[in-house]
Amino acid sequence: MILLLLGAFVVVAAVGDLPDAAIIVAVVCLNTAIGVVQEVRAANALAALEQLAAPEATAIRDGRPVRVPTADLVPGDQVRLDAGDVVPADVVLVQAAGVQVDESSMTGESVPVSRESGAELLAGSVLTRGRALGQVVRTGTTSALGGIAAAVVAAGVRTTPLQRRLSRLSGQLVWLTLAVAALVLVLGIARGQDLTDMLVVAVSLAVAAIPESLPAVVTVALALGAYRMARRNALVRRLPAVETLGSVTVLATDKTGTLTEGRMTVGLVWTPDGSWRVSGGGYAVAGGFDPIDEVVDGEALSLLLRDVVLCNDARLTGPAAGEWTVVGDPMEGALLVAAAKHDPGFLALSEQWCRVGELPFDSTTKRMVTIHRSSVGRLVVCKGAPEAVFDALGDPARAEAARIAAEGLARRGYRVLAVADALRDDPDAEVDLDRDRPAGLMLRGLVALVDPPRESARDVVSACREAGIRAVMITGDHPATARAIADELTITLDGPEVATGADVAGGRHAERVSDIGVYARTRPQDKVDIVAAWQRRGAVVAMTGDGVNDAPALRNADIGVAMGNRGTEVARQAADLVLADDDLRTVVAAVQEGRRIYANIRRFLRYGLSGGLAEVLVLLLAPWLGMPLPLTPGQILWINMVTHGLPGVAFGGEPADPVDMRRPSPSPERSVLGGLLPQIAATAALIAVVALAVGLSVEGEGARRTTIFLGLGLAQLWLALVLRAPRGDGGWRARSLEAAVAGAALLLVAGAVWPPLCELLDTTAASASQIALVAILAAVPAAVVAVVGRLYRGSGGSRVPGPGPKGPGDGAGHRRNMEGERGGHHAGEHHAGEHRGDRRRSRG
Ligand code: ADP
Ligand code: MG
Repeated sequence: MILLLLGAFVVVAAVGDLPDAAIIVAVVCLNTAIGVVQEVRAANALAALEQLAAPEATAIRDGRPVRVPTADLVPGDQVRLDAGDVVPADVVLVQAAGVQVDESSMTGESVPVSRESGAELLAGSVLTRGRALGQVVRTGTTSALGGIAAAVVAAGVRTTPLQRRLSRLSGQLVWLTLAVAALVLVLGIARGQDLTDMLVVAVSLAVAAIPESLPAVVTVALALGAYRMARRNALVRRLPAVETLGSVTVLATDKTGTLTEGRMTVGLVWTPDGSWRVSGGGYAVAGGFDPIDEVVDGEALSLLLRDVVLCNDARLTGPAAGEWTVVGDPMEGALLVAAAKHDPGFLALSEQWCRVGELPFDSTTKRMVTIHRSSVGRLVVCKGAPEAVFDALGDPARAEAARIAAEGLARRGYRVLAVADALRDDPDAEVDLDRDRPAGLMLRGLVALVDPPRESARDVVSACREAGIRAVMITGDHPATARAIADELTITLDGPEVATGADVAGGRHAERVSDIGVYARTRPQDKVDIVAAWQRRGAVVAMTGDGVNDAPALRNADIGVAMGNRGTEVARQAADLVLADDDLRTVVAAVQEGRRIYANIRRFLRYGLSGGLAEVLVLLLAPWLGMPLPLTPGQILWINMVTHGLPGVAFGGEPADPVDMRRPSPSPERSVLGGLLPQIAATAALIAVVALAVGLSVEGEGARRTTIFLGLGLAQLWLALVLRAPRGDGGWRARSLEAAVAGAALLLVAGAVWPPLCELLDTTAASASQIALVAILAAVPAAVVAVVGRLYRGSGGSRVPGPGPKGPGDGAGHRRNMEGERGGHHAGEHHAGEHRGDRRRSRG
C-alpha cells in the first residue's frame, strides 16, 4: 500500500502538482509514524505478557522455597523439584526421592528414567514422579537446552491466521484498485480527456480505495486484546490463540478442583463391620463419627483410619480458627482431617510406622501403595479407586458387599476410595511390590468424600451454553460420581451420555461424541482421543489440564488451558492460555474478549471499506455529472487520514457487545468479510449519492470539490458513530471512539476553513452555514443504516436482542459446521431459525 502511495507521489510530482505531492509525502510519513507507534504499543503489550507467562521455578532463598522466574536462577542456587516441574536449569541432584525424569526434550527418548541423588538433570527435562532438591550448575544459554535454543534463534514474531488473511485481503485490494484505476484511465483517454488529468484521477482512485490503517488496526486489536485478557487473569501464551478463543465450540474440563471446589471432606466411612457418618464441613477440626447401623466395635474404623493416615503424602498445619490447613493433595488432607476427628493422636502414626517403600498415586493405575515398618511387623497399605483396589485383594469374594456399597455411594455423588492392607509379623519380611498387581491384600473399607460443585461452575456451563459452547466433563472419578456432579451442573442437559476411559480407548466414543457430556475413569492419554474426536467433527476445542500427563492433550487442543496455581509447570508451558486465578469463568471472559476483537475488526472493515468504496464511486460517477475531477488526490488523502487515523484505530478498542456471547461461535474458517460485502456496497452507494448531491447543490468547481470533500468525510464519521458497539456503563475511557470522531471532524472542517490548509488542499473556504448544511445531509446515510438496522431487528422476532456486526454469511460453512457437531437435540432446533434471524438482524 505504501508502495502504491509512493507511485502516486511520482505521478503527481511528474505532472507538477506540488501541493498534492507534499500531502502524499506527509501521509506516508504519518502512516509510518502511526504504524510505528502502534507496533511499539503492541510490542510492549506482548513483552509484558511474556514477562507474566515466563517459566518459573521454586528456589530455596533464605531457607524458604520461593517462586522465582527461571531467568533469575544463578549457578549455586538450590531448586526444589516436584512431579510436573520442568527442570529450570542444568542441576545436580542433592536429594532425590523416587525421582523419574522424562528427558525426551533432550534425548527424544520418552520413557522416563530413574535418577538418584548425585545425578545431573538437564534443563528442559520433566520430573514425572518423585521429589528432589537440585543445585544449579549451568543456566541460560550455557545450559544444555540453552545451547540448542540459541542455535535455533527465534524466527521473529509469528503472525496470526487473521493477520495473514487480512494481509492477503490488502494485497487483493491493491490489485483490484490498480485494475479499476487503469480502466478509468483508458476510458477517460478514449473519451478524449487530457492525459495528465486522467492520471491524477486514476491515482486519486487508487489512493481512495485503500484502507491504509488496516494492518495497524489488526495488530493493535490482537496485542492489546491479549494484554487486556491478562488483566482479567487469562494469560495468552501465543497470539493466534486470541482469535481462536472467539471460535471455541467445546470446553472440555476437568472435574476435580475445576468444576468442584477440590476442598474435600470425608462424609461417610464404610467397613465390612458397619458404617459411620462423619460430621463437620470443610477442614474444620470440629466433628466426629456417628455409627449409622449397629456397630460391634470400633476396631475396623481404627484400622481403616490408620491406613489412610499412613498411605498419605499430605500434611496438616494449624489448626487456626478451628480449621486445618492442608499442604498437599486436598483429598489426602481430608483423610487426615477425618482421622484427627476420630483421634488427634492418629496424626502421629507415621512416626511409629516409618515408610520404607511406595508406589506413588498415578492417574493411570488409580491407586497408591506404601510399605511401612514398625516393631510389630511390616505393613503394606493400598488406597485408590475401588475397582483398582479390589483387583489387589487376596479374597475377592469379600469385596462383593463393598462393590455394591461403593456403587451406591458413587451414585450419590461421593468420591469413593477403597482401602486395603496386609500385615506381616516379621518386620524384615521381603515385600514383593509388583507395580501392576499388588496382591494378597485385605479390604479395610471405603471412604466417601464430598467434593461440592463450585458455585461458579453452573454459571460457566450456562454462559457457555448461551454462547454456543458445549461444556464436557472429563474426570478420573467414578462414572456415577461424575454423573451426579454433572447433573447438578446441568452438563448432562446437552450431553446425556456418560462414557468411560475404556470406551475411549476402544474408540467407541467417536460417533457418539456429541451425545457424551461426561467422561469418567479416564486416563490422561484418553483426553487426546476426546479432543481428536471432536476436532474431526469440526469443533474448536478448549481443554483444561494441570497434570504431568496432560501436556499432549493441551498441545493438541485448539486452546489448551492450564491452571496457573494448581497446574504443573509442564502443563503451563504446553498451554495456550493460563488461568492465573484457576477460575473457569476466566475462560468465558477470554472467549468474550476473542469475540470482541473479531467483532471490532469487522466493524473497522465495514467502516473503512464503505468509506473507500464511496470515494471510488464518487470519482467514477462524477464525470457523468459534469465534474471531471470531483476531488484532488490530496483531498482524498486528507479524508482517509482523518477518518482512518483516529476513529479507525479507535474501533480496535470498542467494548464487547453482550450479544456476541449470546450467539453461536463463529466458525474459524469464516472469512472476516463474510456477509459484509452487500452492506458495504449499499452504505458506500448511499454516501456517494449524498456527497454528489451536496456537490451539485453549489456552483463553481472549487466550491463543489470542497462540499464533496466535506460531505464524504463527515458522512464517514457519522457512520463510525452508528457502527460502534452498544455502550454499557462506559465512563470516559469507553468514549475514545466518540472523542476520535470529534477530533477527526475538527481536522476535516479545518481543511475547508483554515486558510493555510485550504491552500494546501486546494479547497475554497466554506461558510459556517454551508458546513452545517453539509453536516446535516451527511448524516443521512448513517441514519438510514441505523434505522434499517433497527427495523430489521424489530421485526426479526429473534431470540437475540440487538444488532451486531456479524452479518448473514458467517457462512454456509459455519452452518454446516454447527449442525455437524451439535446437531440433534439442542442446536438443531433453533439453528436454522437463528441464522434466518441473523440475516434479518444485520444492519444496512
Ligand atoms: P480426577 O482428579 O479427575 O477426579 P484422578 O485421576 O485424580 O481423577 O482420580 C481418580 C480416582 O483415583 C479417584 O476417584 C480416587 O478414587 C483415586 N485417587 C485419587 N487421588 C488418589 C490418591 N492420592 N491416592 C489414592 N487414590 C486416589
Ligand atoms: Mg486428581
